[in-house]
Amino acid sequence: MRFPALVINVESIRHNARVISGLLERRGMRFVGVAKGTVCHPDVVRAMLSGGAAAVGDSRIGNLMNLRAQGYEGETVLLRAPSPSSCKMAAEVADISLNSEVETVRLLGAAAIAAGKEHRVILMVDMGDLREGVLPADAPGVALQMASVPGIRLVGVGTNWGCFGGVVPSPKSLGALVALKEETEGNLGFPLDIVSGGNSTAMKLVLDDTMPWGVTELRIGESVLLGLDAAERRPVPGCRQDAFTLRAEVIEVLRKPSAPLGPTGQDAFGEIPEFVDKGIRRRAICAIGRQDIDPEGLIPLISGISVQGASSDHLILDVEEVDTGIQVGQVLDFRPNYSALLRASTSPFVRKEVLQ
Ligand SMILES: *Cc1c(COP(=O)(O)O)cnc(C)c1O
Repeated sequence: MRFPALVINVESIRHNARVISGLLERRGMRFVGVAKGTVCHPDVVRAMLSGGAAAVGDSRIGNLMNLRAQGYEGETVLLRAPSPSSCKMAAEVADISLNSEVETVRLLGAAAIAAGKEHRVILMVDMGDLREGVLPADAPGVALQMASVPGIRLVGVGTNWGCFGGVVPSPKSLGALVALKEETEGNLGFPLDIVSGGNSTAMKLVLDDTMPWGVTELRIGESVLLGLDAAERRPVPGCRQDAFTLRAEVIEVLRKPSAPLGPTGQDAFGEIPEFVDKGIRRRAICAIGRQDIDPEGLIPLISGISVQGASSDHLILDVEEVDTGIQVGQVLDFRPNYSALLRASTSPFVRKEVLQ
């Protein structure tokens, strides 16, 4: 099956990685390349590393295992705390992990000792987004407990943004994280090397030149993959937005009413769709669906096409305004957003094609 396909332009990713590592370096930070949007595709990881990523971060242990199996021997960062039942595997494939539970860190320490290793831990602090992390007031005490676990080296503090509460970082909040790291060092009696300041939402501070000194790394996925700052979804200056193209084939082109006929109920996903009646329109269906993409996250590359929606396996497009017409068998190109990229990367039904 040639289509659907996700075409990956590795040169664009390498280029973006160079731009981002340069921007971060100027502020004394290292770039942790996050490839989970592509389930750690080996060519994507290679492009990030050759563009200057210092380590590879991923939230899934399975992705890091695959990376190790492919022979990657560099540094790995596990971005989601391991579950207690997966600490043994986590200690085997990850050099560093982000954690907030002392009990999990004890299991990681035991697993590291059994594997003849030392496992490094970054204590996650919740600076307001309300996903993972201990509250700031608890950080110095929890750090002390984690640092005393055999097999574990506590190396720093970190935080995340824009993933649950939609909270984006500010110079003030990241400055507070740096101050918290200093307070924690005072409590521990030894220095911490890492202040892990966040994901692609923190690129805004880099671009505005307001990133506080003392943040030592950012964990960047979206900005390197899609060339966007994730706080406002603006292009990162100098980065390319063309690294991924989703290609799907047309299986039906017919003129149909733009509003459904007959009584309506919930759609296949439990939602009640709303329609604007624009009369009879030419519509196309592509052979791809929600199992493979997020329809809200696709930008058609031919002007005049608009995405109307999708079921599990059918993507419905309004093509009335396309001057050249659309034919059955034609292959249409789309630019995926992060959510569409993640699903296309994960779907076994989407062929991955790497442009070298
Ligand atoms: C996914 C993830 C990242 C990378 O996020 P982007 O917005 O794609 O840069 C960084 N840190 C953690 C903890 C993550 O889960």
